Amino acid sequence: MQRVACLAALACSSSCIAVQVPEPPVSVQTAEGEVRASNREDAERVAALLVELAPKVREILVETRAEPPQVYVLEWDVPKFGDGSNYDGRILMNGRSRPRERFCLAHELVHWQITGAWELLPHTAQEGLADRVAAQLAPETRVERELMLAYQLQWGSLRDPMDALKLSTREWSGVRNTWDRFSLYGVGYFIVARIGIEDLHAMCAEAKAEERISVLPMELLERARLSPYDVREWKADIDAIVFADPGAIAAWSDEVKRPGEVRATQPR
Ligand SMILES: [Zn+2]
Repeated sequence: MQRVACLAALACSSSCIAVQVPEPPVSVQTAEGEVRASNREDAERVAALLVELAPKVREILVETRAEPPQVYVLEWDVPKFGDGSNYDGRILMNGRSRPRERFCLAHELVHWQITGAWELLPHTAQEGLADRVAAQLAPETRVERELMLAYQLQWGSLRDPMDALKLSTREWSGVRNTWDRFSLYGVGYFIVARIGIEDLHAMCAEAKAEERISVLPMELLERARLSPYDVREWKADIDAIVFADPGAIAAWSDEVKRPGEVRATQPR
């Protein structure tokens, strides 16, 4: 994890500059927020997705903020942001996120909705929560995402899950290397998968009631019954999640064999 921390520090020292995002001209207003895009087709497509996904995210998280988001669908890609991001008080959907729009918007809506006790969750676990909810609401992406995260935890450079859970939001945004990011997503995702979203919220609510500022990394690992020493020791536990549904793996494998498919999921 040393490598990830260094990358974060270096990247943040050179990149923490506010970016002015131009306002796309076409607006579609919905009860769940406003979507702006460069053309009506994109705006209406994402608006329909927003109307469908926002109530589902609220239902899963239970404790959520009241304000509806403003979503910008960008034609161009902001490399630093991945597929999407919560930035400057709105959700940005990068141009390259379109094949993964459903997963990406669900993930970003979780970040948007997080409030109250959820804010006591370390950022890496918040990312895991966003991915877990998105995988639930975009089930066609789940198998590939889980396989990629499991692979990265087994073969990537990250070893110490405590280091991953101690990273701040600012340090997280500075991690540019894609594979380092997937390692961090993996730590968060499998912790949330092992604990369950309802129990995770109960942990956060308990910590808030005790007037603590954060749920501790060790608490999360103990509750998830995952090794605090080395993520490679998680292999059997992770395999039990990823390969729990052989039918889903087989269906995904058939999809992969089809030419011309665009897959992979990589929101911020
Ligand atoms: Zn995220």
